[in-house]
Amino acid sequence: MENLSDLRVIEALLTRHGFHFSKALGQNFLVDATVCPRMAALCGADRETCVLEIGPGIGVLTAELAKTAKKVVSIELDNRLLPLLEETLADFDNVEIVSGDVLKLDLPALLCEKFGASRVVVCANLPYYITTPILMRLLESELPVQAITVMVQKEVADRLCARPGEKNAGAITVMVDYYAHAEVLFGVSKAAFLPSPKVDSAVIRLTRRETPKIETDNVQAFFRLVKAAFAQRRKTAVNSVSATLSIPKAQVANALKDCGLSETVRAEALTSEDFAALYRALGGAL
Ligand code: SAM
Repeated sequence: MENLSDLRVIEALLTRHGFHFSKALGQNFLVDATVCPRMAALCGADRETCVLEIGPGIGVLTAELAKTAKKVVSIELDNRLLPLLEETLADFDNVEIVSGDVLKLDLPALLCEKFGASRVVVCANLPYYITTPILMRLLESELPVQAITVMVQKEVADRLCARPGEKNAGAITVMVDYYAHAEVLFGVSKAAFLPSPKVDSAVIRLTRRETPKIETDNVQAFFRLVKAAFAQRRKTAVNSVSATLSIPKAQVANALKDCGLSETVRAEALTSEDFAALYRALGGAL
């Protein structure tokens, strides 16, 4: 098997197939030989575990995963990459490429069909333009996925892995925290990609909680509150929630007071438990 991190090998492959990168599809391929083995080692793949990959590119991470996993299924939107992948992954009989858009495919049906009852993890160098929708889809669809190990922009990694209540936190932090424990595994320089993007990256791991972090009767209404609190970041939580959800300001202020929280608190200072308490205190208003 050829070394898919070797620039000369990659360039020869791309030229042979007349392939040109699509910026719109977030195509930045890994060319640092150390990154994929680390991701494969940390994602939890083994002979009993199947891996779902999103966006194989020319298959550099796919090949690494196939060496340790029971089976790898990789979803690729760009059909121009299919003949390249046929060539680069020819040595593996435990890899299947599925052509399609990860945001449109029926993932529960796909996982059931391809992996049956096997343990499943996700490992991917994500197309950055759809990082949040992909992660929320994986978490919200209640797929039988135990861990999600993915490369994302460093700034996004910091936000996703902040603790709710910390300065870096955003609505997505609280939403991810509801489903999973999030951690940054290691940073990756922009020089590790071809073409090199403008920003550095990081590999993060989301490990699904056995039960959600907090109890709520309606997760979508809870997330609406969280998003509303962060919608106007410069404002206090009271003003942002009140303006976004059209709830009288005094009602939101009273609810915060009932939870023992200050009326002037900002959304980023609220923990997941604070949001849960506020959600309960606002009751029917949501
Ligand atoms: N895994 C390869 C690597 O590490 O070198 C490529 C990663 S590249 C950052 C993202 C990949 O996702 C590309 O192959 C791109 O074509 C693919 N992609 C973009 N949008 C997609 C979508 N909606 N569904 C599935 N794959 C997509």
